[in-house]
Amino acid sequence: MLTHDVETAEGQAFVRRLADVDESYGFRSSFNLVPERYPLDYGLIDELRARGFEVGVHGLRHDGKLFRSRQEFERRAQQINHYLREWGALGFRAPLTHRHAEWMQALEVEYDLSFFDTDPYEPMPGGTMSLWPFILGRFVELPYTLVQDYTLTAVMGETTPRLWLDKVDVIEKYHGLALLNSHPDYMAAGPGLAIYREFLEQMKDRGGFWHALPRDVARWWRSRLGVLDAGPERQLDVPDTLAVEAMFHADGSITLPGEPAPRERAPRERAPRERAPRERGEEPVRDAGVSQRPGYGGQLAGERPQDLEQAAAAVEAAVEDVS
Ligand SMILES: [Zn+2]
Repeated sequence: MLTHDVETAEGQAFVRRLADVDESYGFRSSFNLVPERYPLDYGLIDELRARGFEVGVHGLRHDGKLFRSRQEFERRAQQINHYLREWGALGFRAPLTHRHAEWMQALEVEYDLSFFDTDPYEPMPGGTMSLWPFILGRFVELPYTLVQDYTLTAVMGETTPRLWLDKVDVIEKYHGLALLNSHPDYMAAGPGLAIYREFLEQMKDRGGFWHALPRDVARWWRSRLGVLDAGPERQLDVPDTLAVEAMFHADGSITLPGEPAPRERAPRERAPRERAPRERGEEPVRDAGVSQRPGYGGQLAGERPQDLEQAAAAVEAAVEDVS
């Protein structure tokens, strides 16, 4: 599944080109736009839809303040819901992947894209450890499972889609969801677009997967769970579903959701984390009410991502635990 967050007006100006690229390999994608940061090109939104792409909502202003307090979030959620209705959009991704599963129940969405399986480079690092969609209260969560484009190129210095393709191998082994989030803003310059094209080229040749839009995957996931028409009554116990994130430790161990953090752990070096330009000048989320929760990610800034083999072994162990 291909998703794009459109951060700025410059990014929006590159959307058509990126849609052409996706289309040239036979793919369609979703573009998540920010309602109140740059003048929206409604002609572009109509065109994307007509060409078989999907449009979603990416925060409200992209100013890092969406989750500053519950009151602020609920106020902005009303405005976000207004844009969801106005655009006829079904999905949401929070800017900077700031997230709070309980507060986000105020969003009138069918699916959300703000969580990920694991990502130590985000402002709220951590991860759900899930390579699959899952129900999170009223919506389907579609966690991204491939490293974001900016992280791949600017932070990790990759010049090929090797890490994306390696991860797809792991995901295929577990019949999971390969979900990429990339940005027209970063692809307009630098090596990002060439790497992305190579990735699409190789995926096209690879075949053997279901390529779909987020809305279709979310509806399929609901239907296979038999909750397609359950609507708002399908309100799970959200405080329980809050504990969806695992902690990845520097020694390779993992604390599963709900488990207490290990008491003894060797002190680890904390390297300063590189800040993405999109974060500069934006306030970090201060109290999303999650970082104090045992077993919930949020304290791992500076750690390196898990070796893929280790990650695969961990997923395997987790799957065995569940089954
Ligand atoms: Zn963004």
